[in-house]
Amino acid sequence: MESWPSPLRPVIPGSPPALRLFDTAAGKVREVETGQVAGMYVCGITPYDATHLGHAATYVTFDLVNRALRDSGREVVYVQNVTDVDEPLLERAARDGVDWQDLAAQETALFRQDMAALRVLPPEHYHGVVDSIPYIVDVVARLLEAGTAYRLGVAEGTGADVYLDVTSTAGFGQVSGWSRAEMLEVFAERGGDPERPGKRDALDPLLWRAAREGEPCWDGGRVLGRGRPGWHIECTTIALTHLGMGFAIQGGGSDLVFPHHEMSAAQGTALTGQSPFATHYVHQAMVGLDGEKMSKSKGNLVLVSRLLADHVDPMAIRLALLRHHYRTDWEWTGADLTEAVRRLKRWRMAAAAPAGPPADSVIAALRSALSNDLDAAAAVDAVDRWADDVLDGSSAARPGAGTEVARAVDALLGVSLAG
Ligand code: ZN
Repeated sequence: MESWPSPLRPVIPGSPPALRLFDTAAGKVREVETGQVAGMYVCGITPYDATHLGHAATYVTFDLVNRALRDSGREVVYVQNVTDVDEPLLERAARDGVDWQDLAAQETALFRQDMAALRVLPPEHYHGVVDSIPYIVDVVARLLEAGTAYRLGVAEGTGADVYLDVTSTAGFGQVSGWSRAEMLEVFAERGGDPERPGKRDALDPLLWRAAREGEPCWDGGRVLGRGRPGWHIECTTIALTHLGMGFAIQGGGSDLVFPHHEMSAAQGTALTGQSPFATHYVHQAMVGLDGEKMSKSKGNLVLVSRLLADHVDPMAIRLALLRHHYRTDWEWTGADLTEAVRRLKRWRMAAAAPAGPPADSVIAALRSALSNDLDAAAAVDAVDRWADDVLDGSSAARPGAGTEVARAVDALLGVSLAG
């Protein structure tokens, strides 16, 4: 699947301190463990509603991680999926009387446009479930063969659904660290089916759904028969295909900690006998509106595409997101945007000035803030102070400092000060 055009990322002199991020599995901030090549897998959208600010916050957060790793001289292999066939998508298409494939294609196209406008570096590998089905079929068949997955007959037709026997998988529970009671509490509302009769354990995740009347299905070969993949196995398969076990960072929204990331990891271990799936788990907090989490199911969305259609500068949207730490839930208000528009204007004026205070200290402050568990707000403060100095004309000025600061702001924060 095609991703989106890459913005140019300036390379700036010097190097940052080691990147430290909160690891959900370890429950603390620690250094990201990676060699020269860092694998990063960030779960993508289910394309049934355009990119809202909660999504934008997630992909901008991982863009900061991507940029910080590249700034350290590493190569990043960034992988992202699109859940282009799943219950919520099918339900929305049925509700609106549209073809689910058209809906998915249209919303994925909009997402790509939003990401490009926000100057998010594109993934190296961008895959839909639909184009990954042969790989997923192979993986599910291997799990059945190994005895870690089992069949459950369905009333309609002759096929069988396939589930992973998850509680017997080594390391299950290590990503979230949740108790069984906590897991059971959210499993049903997050796509699980704990009540399904015949499952070995209520928490077992669906790997393959046998064909049902009126639902899309694909050839699962002799072992699986016709059907379609469950949710979590797509990410396990795509991650293992491009990154293998033990890649550097698994990322996504905090609502993916359980079951999605827990199951993806358990499936990886069940398949390979190895652990961990990823060495670092990073999660973006939720963005709210009017006292509730912004979500498609609640319908309280602020869409990036809507803001862009209203001629809001995408760099102002990005700056507004950067004011909020990725691990703190926050609520979007119009004031965020007003402040960001004002800030962007000041930064651009300062960057365009013929001279300003030397760039070295602001670049060091940017790197230090971002390395410290992505303290983007502190990074923004550092640029604010520099811009204030330029515009007040209060300190010693060096010709061309504005260009150097603009390059660093672009490279590390992804905010272009051109225009
Ligand atoms: Zn995923």
